[in-house]
Amino acid sequence: MADTKAKKPAAKKAEDNEKKNAWLSYSAAEKKKLEAFCEDYKAFISNCKTERECAAESIEILKKNGYKDLDECIAKGKKLKAGDKVYKNNMGKAVAAFIIGKKPVEAGMLILGAHIDSPRLDLKQVPLYEDTEQALLDTHYYGGIKKYQWVTLPLALHGVVALKDGSVVKVNIGEDPADPVFEVTDILVHLAQQQLEKTGAKVIEGEALNVLVGSEPLKGEKKNAVKANILKLLKDKYKITEDDFLSAEIEVVPAGPARDLGFDRSMITGYGHDDRVCAYTSLAAMLDVTSIDRTAACLLVDKEEIGSVGATGMHSVFFENAVAEIINLTTDYSELKVRRALANSCMLSSDVSAAYDPNYSEVFEKKNAAYFGKGIVYNKYTGSRGKSGSNDANAEYFAAIRRAMDKNKVAFQTAELGKVDVGGGGTIAYIMAKYNMQVIDAGVAVLCMHAPWEIVSKSDVYEAYKAYVAFLKEM
Ligand code: MN
Ligand code: MN
Repeated sequence: MADTKAKKPAAKKAEDNEKKNAWLSYSAAEKKKLEAFCEDYKAFISNCKTERECAAESIEILKKNGYKDLDECIAKGKKLKAGDKVYKNNMGKAVAAFIIGKKPVEAGMLILGAHIDSPRLDLKQVPLYEDTEQALLDTHYYGGIKKYQWVTLPLALHGVVALKDGSVVKVNIGEDPADPVFEVTDILVHLAQQQLEKTGAKVIEGEALNVLVGSEPLKGEKKNAVKANILKLLKDKYKITEDDFLSAEIEVVPAGPARDLGFDRSMITGYGHDDRVCAYTSLAAMLDVTSIDRTAACLLVDKEEIGSVGATGMHSVFFENAVAEIINLTTDYSELKVRRALANSCMLSSDVSAAYDPNYSEVFEKKNAAYFGKGIVYNKYTGSRGKSGSNDANAEYFAAIRRAMDKNKVAFQTAELGKVDVGGGGTIAYIMAKYNMQVIDAGVAVLCMHAPWEIVSKSDVYEAYKAYVAFLKEM
């Protein structure tokens, strides 16, 4: 579809995928650009494995590119004008960035939205215990995971411990090659006869996702000496006590960096492509924009994987409030202007799509599946069963997007998550659509979605970035 000049293909079987592979379209120079972009992306997801780390790094990137803290502008009553760039930090877990357009904000914004939380294991509030001279951390999984995928692989701990004195201790253990790592154990196959008769959902139970963190007892300690030794280490290195876990947010994630995948290095395996691949590419596109007619916004939110709830999720009025503040700093404030700004906006609600997997072809409908190397994926609708829970984008809106993509030679494809009635999923699109704005789901195709190591195609990452730039330029 991206190549409008292509001759009309001869009639093909309905299940054939007719779209050209984007890899075939690159010049040597563009391929170099693609490689460089993906190197930066790999560094981003290797360094940012929690929503907090993603938010902090995004803010650093924004600041380096001339973005000012909106809260400081508000405090100083500093008026904003066309071309000004600001960001708003939401509790260190979500970020909104704006470039003020030449037109009034109430004319509507161009919004790029994605989420920066990913499935993982969270430590419980009382996590540490000793059993038979092993120290373990109890977890509660976050988001939809196949629990059996999270055992017997090196894990890292990322997060914060908030202390009563108001200070916050950052935790990041398991990423430096010199660091220790952690692991959730599984039964040896020799004794797994009964376990292997269980269904996949029950092979590893949620309550069995306990992370092994120690086995050496503290000398002189009579009871729970291994746990006591761990507590001593935590006290010495991080100045935290057992009670401090009560006010901590520590996430257990796969340890190690994202890496090239395949002999041809055409893919990236990494933790948290869902949805940092859309977040990073959206943010990168924002940085490419200098002067625009309509105000541009990039929204990186938390909590999507558990229903977009909470103050840092898309259901929060954080974005609406930020828009109200922007309007207040650009013109005479009125609530009507806020409503108009939101209703007149266009959004790409970006989240990953399921990439076609030849090993599991039975769950895909080939004409309407997403493929590696075929560009950014647009989903008119998501949801499950009879499109339940989906934002069903308007045909007229998608026609305008197709025009923008073709004009800028962006490879794109359309897809559904899988065959009708085999499952489903949701995104943040429907939440923004309730403001009456135009929204469509877009994103990058991912293999092994929600597994500890997910896979994307480098060309799709690059085409997503190009698509977001085209959206901001043309819409
Ligand atoms: Mn997800
Ligand atoms: Mn997602």
